[in-house]
Amino acid sequence: MRRPKPKKSIGPKHRRISEAEEIELLDAWIEAGKPDSGSNPLAFPPPPPSAPVGRLADGGFSPYAGCKLFRQLPISQKTKDGLRPKYTEMSEIQRASLPHTLSGRDVLGAAKTGSGKTLAFIIPVIERLYRARWGPEDGVGCIIISPTKELAGQLFEELKFVGKHHSLSAGLLIGGRKDVDAEKERVNYLNLLVCTPGRLLQHMNETPNFECSDLQILVLDEADRILDAGFKYEVDAIISQLPKHRQTLLFSATQTKSVKDLARLSLKDPEYISVHSESLTATPERLKQIAMEVPLDQKLSMLWSFIKTHLHSKILVFLSTCKQVKFVYETFKKLRPGIPLKCLHGRMKQVVRMAIYSEFCEKTSVLFSTDVASRGLDFPAVDWVVQVDCPEDIPAYIHRVGRTARFASEGKSVLFLLPSELEMFRKLQAVETKIPIQLRKANTQRLQSISGLLSSLLVKYPALTELAKATFKTYLRSIKKQKDKEVFDLLKLPIDDFAASLGLPMTPKVRFMQQKASDKIASDSDEATDLREANGSRPASGEKQILDRSQEEEDDDVLFPKETSVEVEDNPAVVLPLKNPKKKKMKINVHRPIGTRIKYDDEGNVIPPLAALADSENLNLLVKPDKVKERYEKLKEEMKQRDKEDKVLNRQRLREKRTKEKMKLKRWREEDEEDDDPDLDEAENGAPKKSKLYFDSDDSADEKREDVNLKTDAISLAEQEALALKLLNSMHS
Ligand code: ADP
Ligand code: MG
Repeated sequence: MRRPKPKKSIGPKHRRISEAEEIELLDAWIEAGKPDSGSNPLAFPPPPPSAPVGRLADGGFSPYAGCKLFRQLPISQKTKDGLRPKYTEMSEIQRASLPHTLSGRDVLGAAKTGSGKTLAFIIPVIERLYRARWGPEDGVGCIIISPTKELAGQLFEELKFVGKHHSLSAGLLIGGRKDVDAEKERVNYLNLLVCTPGRLLQHMNETPNFECSDLQILVLDEADRILDAGFKYEVDAIISQLPKHRQTLLFSATQTKSVKDLARLSLKDPEYISVHSESLTATPERLKQIAMEVPLDQKLSMLWSFIKTHLHSKILVFLSTCKQVKFVYETFKKLRPGIPLKCLHGRMKQVVRMAIYSEFCEKTSVLFSTDVASRGLDFPAVDWVVQVDCPEDIPAYIHRVGRTARFASEGKSVLFLLPSELEMFRKLQAVETKIPIQLRKANTQRLQSISGLLSSLLVKYPALTELAKATFKTYLRSIKKQKDKEVFDLLKLPIDDFAASLGLPMTPKVRFMQQKASDKIASDSDEATDLREANGSRPASGEKQILDRSQEEEDDDVLFPKETSVEVEDNPAVVLPLKNPKKKKMKINVHRPIGTRIKYDDEGNVIPPLAALADSENLNLLVKPDKVKERYEKLKEEMKQRDKEDKVLNRQRLREKRTKEKMKLKRWREEDEEDDDPDLDEAENGAPKKSKLYFDSDDSADEKREDVNLKTDAISLAEQEALALKLLNSMHS
């Protein structure tokens, strides 16, 4: 506490002067050493670590194009302090792009997943505003756009981390949190915005005086995703409100090559930096990838067995719709695999989403997710990425598997492909795609089907039946919506077997299926069977697929588990037929009032419980019939009275519950509306929501070290928290 004092006594004036000097030096240094346009800094000889840095004795400057260490870059001391000690050596994309981005050039950067693209744009963003001496009164100087809220949150954290010694203010503007009004009051004082497209547009449209006419730098992370059709409306509207004279940075592992897309952004002679284009693989080198042919009706059993044999791994599982994610999560949870399960999808409340995201960062568990988690997220130490449903295209595949094997770590991935989807494997394996993936046959010999378990769960929990039906329908719809018809063919799916595998007693009717199928069926009544055979797949039931042992490697032990038996001891819902749950009759009357118990006489006729008691032979022997009747009447009266009281109590409870729910709903309507895209949830478009603010300038070094607790430009931590809370609880207009 005492140490910062001398610093304070120097006074802001002195600091400002030294800042001005530093900026002058940085400007001159950048100008002196900037690489030629079109040159690749990676080709420059790196200066030795011991070489002097900055202004040299002869009045010149040390070279920075080609350097390997952050401290050799012409960046401010505050940024260097923010990077240290976590970041010292640069990754390739950072080495290749920073000399260009720091010189103010537009850059299109492509580098594999997990290779450090975030810092490659966060550093130039901070430096640009620092060197422009940006202050609160200057308004928005930088906008970073992310396709999802979780990724925006992550970028914001990294921005705070690296910028913790700077006096810029930053805000996270994403959907899913409340009180856009409170946010509107703050947003005009923020210098750096990290946002999802929808929320940014909402501010552009609704926030009084919100303007970006002085914007210095625009960043699109996951640029190809931001520029694709899903965000077209938002992005066009946003760009139309931004000044053309600005620096623009686009980063992604799968970069857009569309000239049209780039024209939309009015880039000025952009540098195309693709650091791994010479690499033999498009995916991280330490990532081991396999594909397996898994019939549709065995997918869940395969997934279950996989999880059961990887109880100590952190596993990220991709499914194509929210309903599937929900169904697998809810049912697997009840079957208790022995590892914590979590789920993440676009229809969840934002607070919950954020909590799950953080939990999965920390704990070994299985996370079932839609593609909301496929882009950019840097979960530490994911061991396995399991794609239960086929990705829509190759970029989607690359991003999903890219959640593991990040930076220097290793990872493994497995892709389940239906026999009818094997074309996707051929596409992935094509030479130009550069994805080292091998196809393995699954050993289903010891794979225990869980469709029986699922069907008994459905009997026990009627709500799960509804969820299963919705899962069935949304999966088929997701296949129907897929663009790549070479891979995705609705009519090749064994839908009856699929329904049965979800535990459904009957195949739900799906209108678009019936329409599609009717023509075909007219010409070929046995189509499903034929198609399955044509594709080399086995009929789902008894038949076994044989593991090709010649292909087997050590890792396959886990994929083809030695003990695949499903643990069922403490599960009440187990001893069930493995196949044909269709034929199982569900005897549950879902309309039966809760708490009433029905008794049957020997002939199977229903008798009321008390009558059963009164009519019991034994009783008749011991007690006189009129006494029984009297007692029976008395009991009846008592029951009536108790019933009445219960009803009153119940009504009261219900009323309270409803009020509570209404309140909750009112608070959460905002994000639910936003996520209410009929069923395929993954696009995070149009996300209007909340913000938090950030780093501040002033003084105490101790205070500043605690970056998360930093004050914002004007408000204290307590106020920030209050604001965040308020934002969490507010409504979306
Ligand atoms: P990408 O955006 O390319 O997928 P990220 O920017 O998310 O990758 O970085 C992946 C991980 O690598 C992050 O955990 C990040 O902290 C780490 N990282 C990035 N750059 C460096 C570096 N120069 N040195 C050490 N770790 C780094
Ligand atoms: Mg990234």
